[in-house]
Amino acid sequence: MQSTTEENVMVLDEDSAIETELNDGSEILDEASPLSKGQMHLAMLAAVALPPLGLLAAMYFLWGGLFSSLNLVMMIVLYIATGLGITIGYHRMFTHKAFAAPKPIGIFFMILGGMAAQGPLVWWVATHRKHHHHSDQEHDPHSPHASRKPGVVGWIVGFAHSHIGWLFSSTGDSNYRYVPDLLADATIMRINNLFPVWVGLGLLIPAVIGGLVTMTWTGAALGFLWGGLVRMFLLHHATWSINSVCHVWGWRDYRSGDESRNNPVMGILSFGEGWHNNHHAFPSSARHGLKWWQLDVSWIIIRSLQIVGLASKVRLPTKERMDARRRIAV
Ligand SMILES: [Zn+2]
Ligand SMILES: [Zn+2]
Repeated sequence: MQSTTEENVMVLDEDSAIETELNDGSEILDEASPLSKGQMHLAMLAAVALPPLGLLAAMYFLWGGLFSSLNLVMMIVLYIATGLGITIGYHRMFTHKAFAAPKPIGIFFMILGGMAAQGPLVWWVATHRKHHHHSDQEHDPHSPHASRKPGVVGWIVGFAHSHIGWLFSSTGDSNYRYVPDLLADATIMRINNLFPVWVGLGLLIPAVIGGLVTMTWTGAALGFLWGGLVRMFLLHHATWSINSVCHVWGWRDYRSGDESRNNPVMGILSFGEGWHNNHHAFPSSARHGLKWWQLDVSWIIIRSLQIVGLASKVRLPTKERMDARRRIAV
């Protein structure tokens, strides 16, 4: 992997310093995660399997006429809120330190990210930093290309691994050497260890609203399904598509040393994260949609927070740096 950007150098230096300190991250794994490795895989199975079951149940009730616009509104609002928790909080703020914010703002986005049920913050950040360190190479936790077998079957298996299979493979293990900054922060660890509470909150809020608005148990159940499980299902696949789709389909504006792509559909569905080639070229940029027409809702919000004084140290690549990394031909 090339490491000519300031951003990469920062991450790589951090990694190698910690790797010399630790032979094995497993000791820290127990400390960082409220769950054992076996429980973690079981929790992942639940996180992967329950939302599609919820979707099936929601379709069944919809077929029977049990649906209201309130369910749709709750699904969309919570998709946006928890999605921004992942993109602004988990990803840009905590993984890449693309900007700084007052503590309550950080906690707010951490909790929203937790409600997305994509894993505790520390695990998510560790996995993602490892992805950048080894992008599309052997130790990448979720590359569709690394160690891929030849032929169509190899391609399908590689794609499935990058999208969902990696959650159950050993490539995601022992990553906690990547997150000394988070492990050292007591507030972050407290919120991190309450991850199951945040997942529960993300299911409870739409259920309570649905129940109170309609004053029926059916309303509560439909709120739970649409605002909870269906919303989780859609956001899970949007996020996982950044790992799979955005390393396969799209174009590359910049030399990033990997197969990351800019994909406009995912740019919209994942609030700017689909400009993934831009992101791999400039990992700690708070802005991923680098051209004016590359819609990046997460960036618009970070910039707005900056304007009202709630975000600082916002990092952006300079024009010189962007010109130096630009690919002449795609
Ligand atoms: Zn990537
Ligand atoms: Zn990243």
